[in-house]
Amino acid sequence: MGYLRDFKTNVKPGMGSRLYSHLPKALLSLRPIFLRKITRRLFFLITFFRYIHRYIHYLTPGSLYLGPVDIVLTTRCTLRCKDCHMKIPSYPKHYDYDIDDLLHSVKNVVDAVDGVSLFTLMGGEPFLYPNLREVIDFLKGSMKVANIRIVTNGTIIPDESVINSLIGTKILVCISDYGALSHKKEDLKIILTGKNIHFEEWKFSDAWIDMEDFDPNKSEAEIRDGYAKCMLGNPCKSLLNGRLYPCFRAATLTNLCLKDEDKSEFVELKDDSALNVRGEIKRLLQETSLSSCRYCGRIGGGGKRITPAIQAIYEKPNDTHDAENRS
Ligand code: SF4
Repeated sequence: MGYLRDFKTNVKPGMGSRLYSHLPKALLSLRPIFLRKITRRLFFLITFFRYIHRYIHYLTPGSLYLGPVDIVLTTRCTLRCKDCHMKIPSYPKHYDYDIDDLLHSVKNVVDAVDGVSLFTLMGGEPFLYPNLREVIDFLKGSMKVANIRIVTNGTIIPDESVINSLIGTKILVCISDYGALSHKKEDLKIILTGKNIHFEEWKFSDAWIDMEDFDPNKSEAEIRDGYAKCMLGNPCKSLLNGRLYPCFRAATLTNLCLKDEDKSEFVELKDDSALNVRGEIKRLLQETSLSSCRYCGRIGGGGKRITPAIQAIYEKPNDTHDAENRS
């Protein structure tokens, strides 16, 4: 997946209609019509005041809110993009992260903070993750989680229980359009539209960044400056394999042992024994430099643009599921 893209939003309902579309069926069947209108407005007002309450809380001194946080669910994918930002083709074996460990880590983050603006579920291909519904249900049920996004490559139609779990005002499905590679995209859009599930199509032109095009001889000042300017490193965080990292690049390089591990550059979420997750997250947010930026083609927000989703030519590992086998 790439991070620069042209958006083409296919479903853009207003807030009122989005809320309305998720009212319980029993309420929708109320007669006469004015009762439905009252219920609809009441539901809108409750949600509106929930937003206001959240933003007042946001301004309270000492509160701790996180911006976007990626959650990597699996290293399995239906595509083999040679310039994959998550370096999925570099994994010697592809696997799903254990659901208990994963929920434990996510819960540790959610419990430690006052709110998270957005969780993005990604992989690999998140629709290959067998416990996807459990993750979505947990995030949907948390009052501290404002929004959930799931990023798919348009090659998979998930089963009905997963589709149903995507219903809700908090959730947005983002479908990357890689042309012929995203061969289930149109079918998926029809299903999502039929269920009133919100989705966006991500159109890519020549807009991926070559993350491997970097100069490792940068000075400390250049690294600090690059980190400060990177829109992925500062507001975003990445949860991978039981750790919270400053960005997906730092997560990927460390997870694949492609750079020396630096314990000051992540928060350990698996081991409960010495955990002060809130304090650790605050510490991570105050970091002004990141060693991974030395090995990143995106440093400073620039980078060489490349054609997206060029497929690597080699034999697929046999632990990878094909899109065709899943739908
Ligand atoms: S420039 Fe640094 S912060 Fe930004 S994505 Fe790369 S490693 Fe992460």
